[in-house]
Amino acid sequence: MIEVKNLVKRYGLIPAVDDISFTLHPGKIYGFLGPNGAGKSTTMNIMTGYIAPTGGDVLINECSILEDPEEAKSYIGYLPEIPPVYPDMTVEEYLRFVTELKGVKRDERKKQIDMAINRTRLNDYRRRLIRNLSKGYRQRVGLAQALLGNPQFIILDEPTVGLDPRQIQEIRRLIRELVITDDTVAPEDKPVVLLSSHIMQEVSAVCDEILIIAHGRLIVMDTPENLVARYHTQDVYEIEARTTEENLSEVLAPFKEMATFEFDSNDMPEGVSKLRLTFAKGADVAEVLFKTLAKAGVPVRQLRAVVPTLEEIFLQLVAKADEEYAAREEERMKEENRGNASSEEDKTEETADDAEDTSAEEAAPEEDEPNEETSDEEEKEGGDEK
Ligand code: ADP
Ligand code: MG
Repeated sequence: MIEVKNLVKRYGLIPAVDDISFTLHPGKIYGFLGPNGAGKSTTMNIMTGYIAPTGGDVLINECSILEDPEEAKSYIGYLPEIPPVYPDMTVEEYLRFVTELKGVKRDERKKQIDMAINRTRLNDYRRRLIRNLSKGYRQRVGLAQALLGNPQFIILDEPTVGLDPRQIQEIRRLIRELVITDDTVAPEDKPVVLLSSHIMQEVSAVCDEILIIAHGRLIVMDTPENLVARYHTQDVYEIEARTTEENLSEVLAPFKEMATFEFDSNDMPEGVSKLRLTFAKGADVAEVLFKTLAKAGVPVRQLRAVVPTLEEIFLQLVAKADEEYAAREEERMKEENRGNASSEEDKTEETADDAEDTSAEEAAPEEDEPNEETSDEEEKEGGDEK
């Protein structure tokens, strides 16, 4: 079990992680989802002992990453956002090097390397220089090194960024396989995977539970199914019919009391109208709608219930978090101005804050860095990146 407790990380005045708490349970894949700059990498870097928090703690199997980092880290395999690069090592040399770093016993090393290579399907690439691998295969090497030392907790920061669709599928499959264990593994010892992404689709495709963060705060943690149920607060129907908006409006007049009407026929073919009807949840009116339209002789091209997608829910939650953050910032500015007004000579503070803001901008991690060269053989093997 991983317990993240009231984690805070401040860079200057700005909190990158703002009091985050959650618990991860064995045998599950968790998706850490949030827009760029939400605080995913910072949280993961703290969880894995790479950077120290401003406040809070992380317990890995009840072992504090702050008080007992050595033991806590031994339970974790981490693929950071920007993995260290060793272009002049072969895959095998690099993995051997990592087993040494992780303190894997000498007589265990070969077994572990073979296991990691098998699980990430790198058998044919053992002796290949890392510089000659496509981005997809390099990412597999990153995944392989995270598996060394047999960690129970596998933390992957944006494992599919910059990969093409086929490579994404492959990495997803490998990730899903990580939590499949045989029956000899006790339930409490089953692996836990936490992976981050800024794309909902990415997370919903592989994860059992989704944690959404924005502006350093955890907004929601739930299964994809529950998320949809939770935010499916209205019943929306979309009707496309071959008639005028006026006629459609007239025919459906009996529903005016219980629904809002929104016409949106601009993209429709000539003579076709499109109407969006929003009812309170549980209205269950599809059949009545259909009958009413049929009775009036309106040719219906389509009548469908619109269920919010996870993507829409995510965007909606993030937009709300943006507003709340803007309000908090405004409050903070006011507070600061009040402070400045009361100590008017104190001009130095302002300059210091400005300096901090700039450094925060500059330190923001880059994404989608251009790929390096790809060897010819690599191209045909699955790394068809540009
Ligand atoms: P994510 O991984 O969700 O994209 P990060 O955790 O990388 O977000 O960043 C969260 C926030 O913290 C961002 O606003 C980023 O600019 C800021 N930040 C991250 N690292 C540093 C740093 N070393 N110095 C200053 N600000 C930082
Ligand atoms: Mg990040």
